[in-house]
Amino acid sequence: MIPHKFEYTVPKNLDDALHLLASGAKPLAGGMSLIPMMKLRLATPERLVDLAKLQELNYIRESGGELHIGATATHYDVESSALLLRKCPLLAETAAAIGDLQVRNMGTIGGSVAHADPAADYPAALQALEAKLVLKSGKSERTVAVKDFFQDAFTTALGPEEIVLEIVLPAEDTATGTLYEKVVQPASGFAIVGIAVRIRRSAGKIGFVRIGVTGIANCSYRATAAEAALEEKVGLDADIEAAAALVATGVDANSDLHASADYRRHLAEVYAARAIAKALSRCA
Ligand SMILES: Cc1cc2nc3c(=O)[nH]c(=O)nc-3n(C[C@H](O)[C@H](O)[C@H](O)COP(=O)(O)OP(=O)(O)OC[C@H]3O[C@@H](n4cnc5c(N)ncnc54)[C@H](O)[C@@H]3O)c2cc1C
Repeated sequence: MIPHKFEYTVPKNLDDALHLLASGAKPLAGGMSLIPMMKLRLATPERLVDLAKLQELNYIRESGGELHIGATATHYDVESSALLLRKCPLLAETAAAIGDLQVRNMGTIGGSVAHADPAADYPAALQALEAKLVLKSGKSERTVAVKDFFQDAFTTALGPEEIVLEIVLPAEDTATGTLYEKVVQPASGFAIVGIAVRIRRSAGKIGFVRIGVTGIANCSYRATAAEAALEEKVGLDADIEAAAALVATGVDANSDLHASADYRRHLAEVYAARAIAKALSRCA
C-alpha cells in the first residue's frame, strides 16, 4: 500500500531536529519499522524528520569507563565496531543476530529501542548490560535505566518531544563471559525467544550474573530469580538447569502463530541453560 502523504525534512543539525520534533514532527531513522507501518497505514505521520542523516548522532566511543553509542549507529556499525567487539562483545553479537544484512545496514539502535518491538533483539542485551538511555528534547536531557525505559509492547519512557540520543553501557574486560542465544522466527529473523547472559567467576564460583530476556512477553526483562539462583554456585549442570527453570517462571508469556505461551516458556528454559553454559565457558 502507498503511505499517507507526508512532509520529509532533513534537519541541519540536532538542534534543528529537536526544534522540528517540538512542533509535532516524528523522527525517522533507518525506516525499517516505520516505513512498513506507514505503508500499512498503521502510522500516518504528517511530518518526518530524518535523524539518520545526522552524522553527529552516529558514533561509538569510550569515555569515563563507559561506552557511548549514538542513536543513529546502524546495527552493522554496532556488530562491526572494533571497540564493542573488545569491550562489549555481547552487544556486537546481538546486533549481528538482527534480521538480514540489508536491515542491519539501514536499521539503527536508536530506532530499534524507540520502536520497542517485543521480539526485538537489543533489549535482551541491554537488560543484561544494565544499559542507560539518554533521552533528549529541546528543553531537557535525562538518563533513564533500561529497566524503566521499556514499559510495554511498543511503549517506552520516551516523551512526545524526546528522542533517544545515546545508549550508555559498561566497558568490560575479558573476565566477563557473555552470550546472546536466540530462537529465530524464520520469516523475519525476529526473536521468538532471545536470552542474553553476562557472567563472571570469583574464587571458583559465580560471583556476578545478569540475564536479559526478550521475545517472551510484551516487554523485555531481567530474569532476577534465575540470577539469584546462580550466584555463589560453581556452575555445574544441575546449577544451570535449576536457574534456567526460573527464567520464565511466572511470566505472562505471549502466544501467537509462531509459538504458544507454554512453548515460549519451554524454549526460554532450554535456551537459557545453553546460553548460561556457553557464557560461563567464555569467562577468562
Ligand atoms: C525484514 C525485517 C527484519 C527484521 N528483523 C529484525 C530482527 O531480527 N531483530 C530485530 O531486533 N529487529 C528486526 N527488524 C527491525 C529492525 O531492527 C529496525 O531497524 C528497527 O526496529 C527500527 O529501527 P530503524 O532505525 O529502522 O527505525 P525507524 O523504522 O526509522 O523508526 C522506528 C520508530 O522509532 C522512532 N525513532 C527512530 N529513531 C528514534 C530516536 N533516535 N529517538 C526516538 N524515536 C526514534 C520512529 O519515530 C519510529 O516510531 C527487522 C526489520 C525488517 C524490515
